[in-house]
Amino acid sequence: MGTCNSVDASTRSDRQWSHHGPVRGGNESKRRVLQSMARVGSRIFKPESISTSTLKEHKASTYDHVHELVNDGIASCHDGSSKDISGKVGLMNLGNTCFMNSSLQCLSNTEPLTDYFLGYDYRGEINHDNVLGTKGALVRCYAELTKHLWLGDSKSYSPHEFKSSIGRFAPQFEGYEQQDAQELLAFLLDGIHEDLNRVIIKPYIEDKDCDGTNDEGDAIIAWSNYLARNKSIIVDLFQGQLRNTMTCRNRKTKKADGTHGCGHKNVKFDPFMYLSLPISDRCNTLDDCLSLFCEEETLEGENQWYCSKCKTHVDATKKIDLWMLPPILIIHLKRFKFSVTGHRSKIDQEVRYPLSDWNLSTKKKSEGGVFPLYDLYAISQHRGTVTGGHYTAHAKNRFDGEWYDFNDSQCRKVDKEKEKLGFGSSAYCLFYNRVDHHRDDKQKRTTAIHRQSTSCPELWPHFQRDKVTQWKSTRVDLVWGEARETKTD
Ligand SMILES: [Zn+2]
Repeated sequence: MGTCNSVDASTRSDRQWSHHGPVRGGNESKRRVLQSMARVGSRIFKPESISTSTLKEHKASTYDHVHELVNDGIASCHDGSSKDISGKVGLMNLGNTCFMNSSLQCLSNTEPLTDYFLGYDYRGEINHDNVLGTKGALVRCYAELTKHLWLGDSKSYSPHEFKSSIGRFAPQFEGYEQQDAQELLAFLLDGIHEDLNRVIIKPYIEDKDCDGTNDEGDAIIAWSNYLARNKSIIVDLFQGQLRNTMTCRNRKTKKADGTHGCGHKNVKFDPFMYLSLPISDRCNTLDDCLSLFCEEETLEGENQWYCSKCKTHVDATKKIDLWMLPPILIIHLKRFKFSVTGHRSKIDQEVRYPLSDWNLSTKKKSEGGVFPLYDLYAISQHRGTVTGGHYTAHAKNRFDGEWYDFNDSQCRKVDKEKEKLGFGSSAYCLFYNRVDHHRDDKQKRTTAIHRQSTSCPELWPHFQRDKVTQWKSTRVDLVWGEARETKTD
């Protein structure tokens, strides 16, 4: 990905924080606030009986109280002038690390994730047995970074420790080559998930083939099976479901309506953590990219599909649909592509993307779940060419609601009109926050986050409702009983 120009002279922060947060000049009240924030999880949540297969399953179903606590905690931590810099802290460039800084600033401005690391007892959720994780090393470094960005009082911070940690988890990020911001993001979210996976022993669950006759029910069972192996803050915040449908188009069989195929379908419900959308010349808006993503694809020739009814490889169609959407929706625009010879190039197509009220109700195919309406809160940007590009981020501050430009160690307020946010060729990853569909309450622009577990299907996204009466499903209610019966813990 080439190089970017700026490297900060100082790569180490001179500030050292204790386990409980900044202790500086004997500021007792500040220390107390931070201590209580670190302890709140264990104080408020009484761990239930610990089963052999899971870590603590907490009674509380949302993280709302953590949000209040963190807001109050940050306010009382800062005195007067320094409160204004909360979250507006640059990240020093350690040598081609703008890709990492860009992703980190977007995640740092993901309110519920920052709330979790500042105010929840995340240490109590570290999975020390997971061979896929780092036994908590990565999440501790990430939490430390979050603390410096929101509770510190310097204008920039060196992510040196964090970089070493992610390098240990994913060795491709060890060196100082320019890398892909989205790849780092994917590895980081994966790493956090594995470190905080509340499942200790993953049961073996066989993939079930579905035929498209009971999608609402099959999606719920697929989610239940997924949760039996994966439960973490990452699942709660970022994960949704896609419906993948394969349809037989065997040319040797013909249906009454003249189309080919034996009629056999194979449907799968797969979890996703972000949507990687293609861009073509005809994509002018984000919705166009999404339509292209959901477009039916024909598999023929070498790509033929094995139809279990025809018992042979046949022509087929493949279609992906959005099924269940998460509280935080990350969109990755596939601007970088590889040719068959391995040559990497960038698509500079300008795309318009909504800053607020992005309505996905016609794209989301499930009848369950809350109304899918999203506000943008962060953008990872890439400017320049594949060989000489530079990553920055734009993000909306949780306290003043203003947009800021994060360019490595620099952070400056921007005018979203002048900056032309919402349009351009540099937007690479977009971060959307689901908003409650209460049009009468303009102030409330966030949504409740429900802790996902197999024992509480009432908290699964499929059964969540909001007050829009039209947004009501009867079919989802029918499978409700079934889900309660098939729960596994
Ligand atoms: Zn067939």
